[in-house]
Amino acid sequence: MRVLNKPKKFKSLRVILFKNITLIFISLFLLLSIYISKTLYDNGIESIYTTLEERNKADKYYIESYFTKIHNAVKILSKIDVIKNAIYLSDNQKQFALKLFKYTEDSDPDINYVYAGYIDGSLLINNYTPPKGYNPMIRPWYIAAIKSFPNVSNGIPYQEIKTKEWLISISKTLVDNNGKIVGVIAIDSDFSKITSKINKYIKNYKSTNSFIIKEDTGEIIITPNNHFLRKKYYNYINNINFVYDHKKISFTLNGDPKLGYYSKIPILGWIIVTSVSKKEVITPIYNRLIILNITFLIMIILFGWFLSKSFMKKIINPLIILNDKLLQITQNKKIDIKLNTFEYPNNEIGIIAKELEKLTTTELYKKNKELEKINQKLQKLSITDCLTKLYNRGKIEKDLTNEYNKAIRYNDTFSIILFDIDNFKIINDTYGHQMGDKILIEIANLTKETIRNTDIAARWGGEEFLILCPKTNINSAFNLAERLRKKIESHDFSIDKRITISGGIAEFKKGLTIDEMLKQADDNLYKAKKEGKNRVIF
Ligand code: GH3
Ligand code: MG
Ligand code: MG
Repeated sequence: MRVLNKPKKFKSLRVILFKNITLIFISLFLLLSIYISKTLYDNGIESIYTTLEERNKADKYYIESYFTKIHNAVKILSKIDVIKNAIYLSDNQKQFALKLFKYTEDSDPDINYVYAGYIDGSLLINNYTPPKGYNPMIRPWYIAAIKSFPNVSNGIPYQEIKTKEWLISISKTLVDNNGKIVGVIAIDSDFSKITSKINKYIKNYKSTNSFIIKEDTGEIIITPNNHFLRKKYYNYINNINFVYDHKKISFTLNGDPKLGYYSKIPILGWIIVTSVSKKEVITPIYNRLIILNITFLIMIILFGWFLSKSFMKKIINPLIILNDKLLQITQNKKIDIKLNTFEYPNNEIGIIAKELEKLTTTELYKKNKELEKINQKLQKLSITDCLTKLYNRGKIEKDLTNEYNKAIRYNDTFSIILFDIDNFKIINDTYGHQMGDKILIEIANLTKETIRNTDIAARWGGEEFLILCPKTNINSAFNLAERLRKKIESHDFSIDKRITISGGIAEFKKGLTIDEMLKQADDNLYKAKKEGKNRVIF
């Protein structure tokens, strides 16, 4: 509720325009900036995931094909008689099996060793003498094959006893012709090739790499960082579970946030995880966003500036100029050149401004005219006697001075007639004051009718009148006074009594002052009264 009816504060159009445009553009900027930043961020992350997925799948197919051929080699060798029945054969006959191993090793550079271990504790292998007390049946490759019977075992990494190199062995049970498991054939392949393959980083992201987890045990079996080798992945990695065959993931490795993609390799029972440090991929996205937002902000500022400038030029400035101009017109000031030479734009505002200016100017002109009339009226009123409408005493005193000065300068003459209504008191007393007024008006009118154009008649006071006759000598003035006296005497004032006047005349003579002239006229009037009234004396 408004308690006080406060006058509204004046707010400049410029300020309003500036405030509103700024507000609109800031909101616009914020809205678009949030939207664009979010979209770009999401797209950036999505594209990283796509790259990770591509890389992950490529690695997966590489590993799959790498090991499929080894699998096949193990399967074929396990079917060959000399190999599966070696324990029943002589050393000479075993040489053939060793030759087959050698051919296989030579045929594929990815194959390091081909060998077979048997239940009798013997080991069939080229160029290798097992250490004393070596028992093949307790080696991981042997145990794995037994576990996987009748299938080929999953790849298990193990460290070679003598050379200490890390190898992956793929193995399969050997079954003799009687269907008895007599041993295991295995092919070893060192996975340095795989390690170097999955260790290559993606384009700009140095932190990309892949590692491989053995699904059943959760061991990390291939990794670019030997620190994690053979360790359980869940001791280092949080927020991860391998429910699906492949999936985008985000997790932390030792507290470092990572984006990644995993897929399972069923023939090996492995999971390959490809990941990149989140920090590394997000920094360029942020940088791009900052540059984009700055560019965007600059564009918005420029656009806003341009818009307000055009608004200013087309709408606000003409209005401000019009406002100033109208103020100057209404305050009757001289209009600035700057305002006068301003060209209104050729649009609605321009038309309105010009029309308003015209209207104000004509209105002002009208007002001035009215004022002029009023002044004229006032002027007239100030010199007019309000009852008789003759000039008043002030006016005739001025005229008298003028005439007096002229007469002196041009060596000319003039006369004055002072007349007074006879026994006016009695008329007032008999017929009332109103009738007295009427008679005063009628005598004034008779006077106006009688005098010449150049003569000036005024009410001198009460029932006394003064007539100024320029360029008139005393005789002519007397004639005029007599004519007036007779006219009044014979005039019918609608009362049963005659109205008469008495007059005194004076003529200007060199050396006489105005006061002395007036005194002469008054003295003569006095004489006329004394001599019986209704007469003119000079
Ligand atoms: P005299 O013949 O000696 O001039 O006698 P008078 O009665 O005319 O002179 P007096 O000076 O005794 O009286 C003048 C009268 O004129 C008195 C006054 O009431 C009257 N009078 C003066 N001004 C007005 C006026 O404006 N209206 C009316 N009705 N009477 C006026
Ligand atoms: Mg008198
Ligand atoms: Mg009188």
